[in-house]
Amino acid sequence: MSAQIIDGKKISAEVRAEVKQSVEKRIAANKRPPGLAVVLIGDNPASQVYVNNKQKACDEVGFLSRSYHLPSSTTQQQLLDLVEQLNNDDSIDGILVQLPLPEQINASAIIEHIRPDKDVDGFHPQNVGKLMLRVPALRPCTPYGVMRLLDSTGETYKGRHAVIVGASNIVGRPMTMELLLAGATVTVCHRFTSNTPELVANADIVVAAAGKAGLVKGAWIKEGATVIDVGINRMEDGKLKGDVEFDIAKERAAWITPVPGGVGPMTVAMLMKNTLEACELHD
Ligand code: NAD
Repeated sequence: MSAQIIDGKKISAEVRAEVKQSVEKRIAANKRPPGLAVVLIGDNPASQVYVNNKQKACDEVGFLSRSYHLPSSTTQQQLLDLVEQLNNDDSIDGILVQLPLPEQINASAIIEHIRPDKDVDGFHPQNVGKLMLRVPALRPCTPYGVMRLLDSTGETYKGRHAVIVGASNIVGRPMTMELLLAGATVTVCHRFTSNTPELVANADIVVAAAGKAGLVKGAWIKEGATVIDVGINRMEDGKLKGDVEFDIAKERAAWITPVPGGVGPMTVAMLMKNTLEACELHD
């Protein structure tokens, strides 16, 4: 058996087209466009690429986008002041502070200062808590994007065993809550899990998000499973590789995402969707 590929490029383009259409409807109704503020501190090259992608996506869907690029010497108070200013700016629906932040800034203090209804990354404790309590508001973009990819397969969640490899705040943990909310039985593996291969071999749905190239061996995958690879690992030759041993896994799985072109493009698309949702709640 050779798996069907879940095409993240195509599905993310569909999400962006839906957002664009909703923005056009707003404009036709004399409403303002959704506004996203992106804050970048310092000169981390990967962060710069992510921020540029987010701005390009804003332009494409017709959002107002504002970017703030501050030096790596920025103090916590200066960043809190900027967040405060954006919290009070009625043309801005979403505030995204690109992580990681320089060491003099406490990321949790910044995230907690963003108004929850403008927290389009879905990282504020209020939004994390709402997802956990089964009343999701703004949802973390990457797991939200994974759910959209899983939905596209038409497979059911109820009664299926999902195994997540990785337990970070931005991927593994909210992914657990999303899959639980959707009715799956969820197991989470992390760096201290002693039997990850056996657990993965039992999974109907595997979500790999450890940030270790090829960690999830193809031979672990159960025949007919759905495999979602969130990992993005830059190899010495410059190529991107996922956390799953793709060539072997695709011979066993029923559905699989490639890297690149799987989960990656979904994150920015879901950020656009979150910003539109925030805007529609604001007016
Ligand atoms: P992280 O380093 O914060 O967390 C990694 C998690 O994996 C931890 O919970 C750790 O315990 C677990 N882990 C590490 N080694 C393990 C092992 N051997 N077995 C089982 N679990 C293990 O990473 P993150 O921020 O969650 O990112 C994970 C990966 O996803 C990275 O490659 C990152 O680049 C990628 N990512 C992609 C997107 C996207 O848009 N596609 C978004 C966010 C992160």
